[in-house]
Amino acid sequence: MTGETRVGVVGAGIIGLAVARQLQRTRPDVEVTVFDKEPSVGSHQTGHNSGVAHAGLYYPRDSLKARLCRRGIGLLKEYCADRGIPYVECGKTVVAVTEEEVPRLRDIEERARHNGVPGLRRLSPEEIREHEPHIHGVAGLHSPSTAIVDFVAVTRAYADDVVAAGGTLLLGTRSPRSPATATWSASWPVNAGHLRPPGRLRRPAVGPRGPAGGRRRGPAIVPFRGEYLTMRPDRAHLVNGLVYPVPDPRYPFLGVHFTRRVDGTVDIGPNAVLSTAREGYRRSDLVVRDLAETLAWPGFRRLARQHWRMGVTEMRGSLSRRAFVAGARRYLPELTAADVDGRHAGVRAQALDRDGTLVDDFRISRLGPVTAVRNAPSPAATSSLAIAEHLCEGLL
Ligand SMILES: Cc1cc2nc3c(=O)[nH]c(=O)nc-3n(C[C@H](O)[C@H](O)[C@H](O)COP(=O)(O)OP(=O)(O)OC[C@H]3O[C@@H](n4cnc5c(N)ncnc54)[C@H](O)[C@@H]3O)c2cc1C
Repeated sequence: MTGETRVGVVGAGIIGLAVARQLQRTRPDVEVTVFDKEPSVGSHQTGHNSGVAHAGLYYPRDSLKARLCRRGIGLLKEYCADRGIPYVECGKTVVAVTEEEVPRLRDIEERARHNGVPGLRRLSPEEIREHEPHIHGVAGLHSPSTAIVDFVAVTRAYADDVVAAGGTLLLGTRSPRSPATATWSASWPVNAGHLRPPGRLRRPAVGPRGPAGGRRRGPAIVPFRGEYLTMRPDRAHLVNGLVYPVPDPRYPFLGVHFTRRVDGTVDIGPNAVLSTAREGYRRSDLVVRDLAETLAWPGFRRLARQHWRMGVTEMRGSLSRRAFVAGARRYLPELTAADVDGRHAGVRAQALDRDGTLVDDFRISRLGPVTAVRNAPSPAATSSLAIAEHLCEGLL
């Protein structure tokens, strides 16, 4: 990039603003404008997540997730300390509830050690209860540096940095349909990962053309709603920190967990059900075009054929509070449906390849003049400052 370069960033979520901020730090001569169609920052994934700063336990060796999560959590912790944003190292306990889950728990431990996660400790059933007196399991793994944070507060602070450094934040402003050719022009538009990508990035089949026949390969962005139940305040003492299951390796989601929030509430979730609207936070939300795009994507039909059983189980939990609670009771036997009273949800922008594979790693691609964050699932909020460093290295 040279001289009068202007960069447009589409999306004032945690990734878009981290990228805008990093661009200003590394290239003060570049003029940065961030657009968001919503009136406030962090309105979608960033404002509807679990609020966990992940220490980097699960991610495969040499993946971007492994590298950027480890670097990201360190940068995030420092940033929160600098800006006075509450960041609480309440620790995480991953719990195996059956003997069959123990080898998978050991695999996670091995990966975590390889990724450099500090302070890990194997737990016996009695030791699990030292951390979490009400939680039952046959084996556990404790990560003391896993933390909780308010990602919207972090995102607001990034926005303040961008504006203070002379950048422009245009809220309530939808990006031009094609950021590269609109009247407002940016030399190097950056499209931060979202549920409803603009212009040509929106189409599910956007991607490099296949060598023969010109068929587009994807990935498509498929919206998966993650629903949470909130524990009644007088029952929140049943969980001290973060309690996670041993995840099913076939899915990129971590499974329903207990999450203490910085405001002291405890949530149970999120599950993973297909969302019938890309930005639909209630079960009843339906946008016919969004649903039609998902159903038309061959990768979705393949995924549905392979994993319909799992889909039915998740849907059952979504429709019935009792079924949802029954899943969580495996870890917390004294939990009852009367212990939860609130309900809320987030929607994940999950990339799905044409062959039905859920894309696990972060994916950042150049599509002509646009740099697009195509897959930024959890732990992307934790990793935001490191993703920004990585993306800007490639951009400049
Ligand atoms: C249920 C759930 C739980 C999660 N838990 C965690 C966790 O505990 N820890 C963690 O690290 N990560 C977690 N994540 C992941 C994390 O929230 C996301 O990775 C992160 O928020 C992605 O940020 P983003 O900026 O890419 O996307 P978003 O926050 O979705 O921002 C995209 C923005 O783009 C805007 N936009 C879209 N189209 C246009 C347009 N045409 N013009 C202008 N603006 C537009 C949207 O309005 C939106 O504000 C979770 C995610 C979910 C959904």
